[in-house]
Amino acid sequence: MEQKTILAIGAHMDDCEIGAGGLIAKAVRKGHRVVLVNVASDYSTWRVTQGREEEIKERVVRKAAQIGVEKRFLGYGYQQVPRDLSAIKKLAEVVIDVRPDITLFHNRFEPSPSDHATVGYIAERAVRDATRLLDTYVDFSQEMYAFEVYPRISQFRPDVFIDITDVIAEVAQWPNYFDEIYAGDIHNPRPSAGPRAHIRLDLHGEQEIALWTHGDMKLATAAFRGWQCGARYAEAYMALDQRAMGRRLLPELAE
Ligand SMILES: [Zn+2]
Repeated sequence: MEQKTILAIGAHMDDCEIGAGGLIAKAVRKGHRVVLVNVASDYSTWRVTQGREEEIKERVVRKAAQIGVEKRFLGYGYQQVPRDLSAIKKLAEVVIDVRPDITLFHNRFEPSPSDHATVGYIAERAVRDATRLLDTYVDFSQEMYAFEVYPRISQFRPDVFIDITDVIAEVAQWPNYFDEIYAGDIHNPRPSAGPRAHIRLDLHGEQEIALWTHGDMKLATAAFRGWQCGARYAEAYMALDQRAMGRRLLPELAE
């Protein structure tokens, strides 16, 4: 397959990695281009990241380089992403610039935190209306999917599952990096924070992984989604572009 471009749009610094980590890891392994957007990236607006803005940005960029993806920042405040035309246009500019083959973002019905639902809404509008809003013509695909960050009881009905068993050990540990950043909160230091689970995975030989809060959740969600689709570990997506039905690129990227 020729090189494809995947655009993932997350509210916070770790959302794409949690929600779509498996797909991202698989795409990177195959040499595809992956661009992640951190929409709420004014770190001076969140108590946990306040006072460390530059350092955190550097760390976030460093992690992206390690994973093999590009990270972009939109600069909005925490829980302050506006559900308006200006934000849609700002994201549309990214879409036009990146020209994605598939775009992934939050489920717009995710009840909390509020930024997730807002980003789900503005991202879908940005992809659908990018060329009209910016009065330009650029060829890109409108194949779109919502991912899940926090497993919710309702309002997320996945219809595409991908097997992420081959990358789960790596991907479940990605959120550790961000949890470590959160633990460095200068207003509420948590020096004793650390892994809350040490798990021995029996995949291709035994592998021990240590998981902080969000990695532990990611592993559990992946096991649950795997059970639903017949894989050991899986990621679930909700397709948003009806026109892509039956000829979707996402399952091909995940093979
Ligand atoms: Zn988030």
